[in-house]
Amino acid sequence: MNKAVFLDRDGVINNPRSNYYVSKIADFEFNTHIFPVIRGYQEQGYLIIVISNQGGISKKLYTIKDVEKLHAFMTDTFKKENIIITETYFCPHHNSIENCICRKPDSLLLEKAVARFNINKTESYFIGDSVRDVEAAKKAGIKGILISKNGELPKKLS
Ligand SMILES: [Mg+2]
Ligand SMILES: [Zn+2]
Repeated sequence: MNKAVFLDRDGVINNPRSNYYVSKIADFEFNTHIFPVIRGYQEQGYLIIVISNQGGISKKLYTIKDVEKLHAFMTDTFKKENIIITETYFCPHHNSIENCICRKPDSLLLEKAVARFNINKTESYFIGDSVRDVEAAKKAGIKGILISKNGELPKKLS
C-alpha cells in the first residue's frame, strides 16, 4: 500500500485570493513555503495528490480546459522542483448551481484517489486552508491538517 499527502490547491499550493477565482497562469502565485516541504514529504515516501474545488467552472467563470491548462503548468513547475504530483482531482460543480458529491466537504475525490492509488488512509494526511478540507478528510477517514495562517506547512506529519 501507498501513503499520500493530499493537498488543497488555492490557499495551500498557491496564495489565496479573497473573492477571486484563480484560473490563469499569470494569477497563479506559488506559496513560497511549498517546494522544500513537499519535497520533504516525497522523500519520506508520500505520494502527492491535489484535491481542489473549482466551482468557478459551474459558475461559468472559466472552463474545464482552463483548469487543465493551469494544472499542467502547476505540475510542470513542481517537476522542475523535482516533485512529482501523482494526480490532480477537481470538482467542477458549485453548490449554488448544482448538487454533487465530489465538492469538499464531501469526500468522493479523496476516496477515488485512495482506491486508484491503493492508499493506506491511516498513514495519510490532507493539508488544507479551510474547514471544509478538514471535514472532507474526516469523512474519508484521513487526518486533516489546517495550514498555518502565514502559509507554512508542517515539516513533520503526525
Ligand atoms: Mg483552499
Ligand atoms: Zn462536484
